[in-house]
Amino acid sequence: MTEKCSDPRLASVEENYKRIAERVAQAAVRAGRQPQDVTLLAATKTVAPEYINHAIRCGLRFIGENRVQELLEKYDRIDFEAGVSAHMIGRLQTNKVKYIVDKVDCVQSVDSVKLAAEISRLSEKIGRRMPVLVEVNIGEEPNKGGVLPGMLEDFLEEIASLPGIQIDGLMAIPPICAEKTELCNYFSRMRQYFIDIGAKKIDNVSMNCLSMGMSSDYEDAILCGSTMVRVGSALFGQRIYP
Ligand SMILES: *Cc1c(COP(=O)(O)O)cnc(C)c1O
Repeated sequence: MTEKCSDPRLASVEENYKRIAERVAQAAVRAGRQPQDVTLLAATKTVAPEYINHAIRCGLRFIGENRVQELLEKYDRIDFEAGVSAHMIGRLQTNKVKYIVDKVDCVQSVDSVKLAAEISRLSEKIGRRMPVLVEVNIGEEPNKGGVLPGMLEDFLEEIASLPGIQIDGLMAIPPICAEKTELCNYFSRMRQYFIDIGAKKIDNVSMNCLSMGMSSDYEDAILCGSTMVRVGSALFGQRIYP
């Protein structure tokens, strides 16, 4: 009767969500962990709030936006009341931190001291400590964000003392790989950094979250140790850029 029921994209979001959530849980178990040890975050760039909200009705609790402007435009129309957290997963300019510091529960794309310091400063100002992940440029690709693996430890030590952030883990977007074994190498190296850094017990550095894996490879990522997958197109369909 209603238009909503006849929108095929809503139905497919629901189907996709259920299937992906199930696969995430199964991959966690195959990796020797509990289903609840792996978090499904929806990468929502270009997706209209009605579809995001439908995924939330299906059980989604984490969304990730890439652009500040887009997050702000959609923010008031997203049903956060269900206990939904928004993460920043895209490149973030230091001068835009002020717009999101009260809106997101994690910045996954921290890759410069300047950015970390600004998140810290503005978070402190509003009386919070912002969880952040350090993005690692695991493929050492020139045009990608992220800290180079060789710089990671020094970087962590440098930002660990900032009072308004809490370093919660690592994030990576590996290069596009023709071979699955090559991709799994990147994932496994990320997991090793995650474990090694966690073992160092640096003050204010906890390795709780290893964010890696997207639509085409989230099960592989989980098998290689991911604790959070960021899935976009497999959930919402192919992105239509305006
Ligand atoms: C778009 C995006 C994703 C999801 O990509 P899909 O291949 O559509 O699943 C994950 N992480 C980041 C940082 C993204 O920008």
